[in-house]
Amino acid sequence: MYAILVHGGAGKVSPERFDSAKKGTRNAVEAGIEILKSGGRALDAVEAAVKVLEDDPTFNAGTGSVLTFNGEVEMDAAIAYGPNFDFGAVAGVKNIRHPISLARQVMEKTDHVLLAGKGANNFASLMGFEPHDPVVQRRREQWESYRKDFLNGDYKDWPKLRKLFQEHPEFLHGTVGAVAVDSHGETAAATSTGGVFLKLLGRVGDTPIPGAGTYATPHGAASSTGLGEGMMRVLITKVAADFLKMGLDAQHAATAALNYLDNTVGTEAGIIVVDRHGEIGYAYNTPNMSHAYFKEGMKEIESDL
Ligand code: ASP
Repeated sequence: MYAILVHGGAGKVSPERFDSAKKGTRNAVEAGIEILKSGGRALDAVEAAVKVLEDDPTFNAGTGSVLTFNGEVEMDAAIAYGPNFDFGAVAGVKNIRHPISLARQVMEKTDHVLLAGKGANNFASLMGFEPHDPVVQRRREQWESYRKDFLNGDYKDWPKLRKLFQEHPEFLHGTVGAVAVDSHGETAAATSTGGVFLKLLGRVGDTPIPGAGTYATPHGAASSTGLGEGMMRVLITKVAADFLKMGLDAQHAATAALNYLDNTVGTEAGIIVVDRHGEIGYAYNTPNMSHAYFKEGMKEIESDL
């Protein structure tokens, strides 16, 4: 039984973005269904779904990514293939359209797991990725206003980031992710992000770290969103995968993994999970996490915020 579940980031979605967030996640699920319904692979489905979200400026991934403190875009992405724990990721990559596809090239064409910064961009050129400017006007304006507040002292220091995100969960919206299981029982996960607003140049979040923002095993797959600095320390998607291995279904694993995060580092986050039996699950502790899913046998895609 196949299934696909995507997220468009945890945080707060402002009412004027409700429709575009719902439409965007549905479009991504549709791209995945096209592949899965004809017996295609979960790995291709999650990549296709995340590419749709990367192209949609509503979300903080690919085109529409948030800007660093210096006003640049540095993107992280990862893809994971459950059957043999394969993983490919890029961190701090600039000026390409589909970081998720570059992550897949790292997984399939190199013996490495994660390429960062200049090396990731050199590899992109080698793989024939065309230059692409991911900055959109809305993000530039947001950056200007947040940076002004920050410099005025309204946001204090970086160690206060957690408080900042608790007070302004809208900062987090937009990272994208997809998890899928195909009719062969293979699982895969993919996550892509511009990171967090006003991050320092060189900051790498949870997204490209195995078991933090992205993970897949023969038992299932998970993708998370929220403040990476918390999720990296508890490896939330690995926690979810361990719960699946213990026999929990996808929904219980998602809830238990988020509870674990709440009871340990307590950061703002959301997680999506699929298990090898075709069950899906999700949990979040932020006001919203746009998401959409489809399981074989359903009449229509379900989507919500
Ligand atoms: N997890 C991402 C990061 O910390 C941000 C997000 O999910 O919105 O880079």
